[in-house]
Amino acid sequence: MFKASVITLFPEAFPGPLGVSIIERARTEGLWSLETVDLRAFGIGKHRKVDDPPAGGGAGLVMRADVAADAIDSLPDDGRPRLYMSPRGKPLTQARARSLAEGPGAVMLCGRFEGLDERVIEARNLEEVSIGDFVLAGGEIAAQALIESCVRLLPGVAGNQASLEDESFESGLLEYPQYTLPREWEGQGTPDVLLSGDHKRIAQWRRSRSELLTKQRRPDLWAAYPQGPEFRASETDDERD
Ligand code: SAH
Repeated sequence: MFKASVITLFPEAFPGPLGVSIIERARTEGLWSLETVDLRAFGIGKHRKVDDPPAGGGAGLVMRADVAADAIDSLPDDGRPRLYMSPRGKPLTQARARSLAEGPGAVMLCGRFEGLDERVIEARNLEEVSIGDFVLAGGEIAAQALIESCVRLLPGVAGNQASLEDESFESGLLEYPQYTLPREWEGQGTPDVLLSGDHKRIAQWRRSRSELLTKQRRPDLWAAYPQGPEFRASETDDERD
């Protein structure tokens, strides 16, 4: 079972959006578990202080190393990766979500304020993970995003495993455009090829659309795509809708 443990000053932020739909159902079915650890409980003194001004001066407050370490050490070291949600971290990818989902779970530390005393990151072997190049007020939403990206990949969680394989990033490409009913909507039809019943042509159309979109929107992914540099989507894409 995938076990998620989240160290946070705001346990009430959980399960949040993890408490709905397929993610919640998977939890009630025992496919994964969620535990929160209240960082405040490890605070210092009567006021349970968890932060102090930065050494060297400057704005804001920094989460104390001793408090964070006590919270981490309250969990058994069971070999799960220990992650510190942080905008300085390695950006989370679908590949990383998949590798985490194949493992026993994760321990996640959510920062607040200006972040965490640097010493505890190394001393407790925390891996910094970012959910993107923007700054949140705290790590809770980042931890939720990470957990959700992992849990939906666990066997038995999403109804259709094939639909997972087709998705954005799984092949190194963005997903092709999707259509459903009505066939005609506000003067726009549905690409003929999708109504042809010809599965081979449909697959080719989708692949070429995925490649075109990736090339246009994500040159970084396109450059890393094995067939990317040789593929000329504009020349070979004769299935325009
Ligand atoms: N001063 C820090 C930002 C602190 S934001 C800096 O410039 O790097 C407060 C907390 O929010 C962080 O400790 C982290 O836990 C969380 N956080 C903010 N942005 C994040 C992101 N993009 N990914 C993951 N966690 C993030």
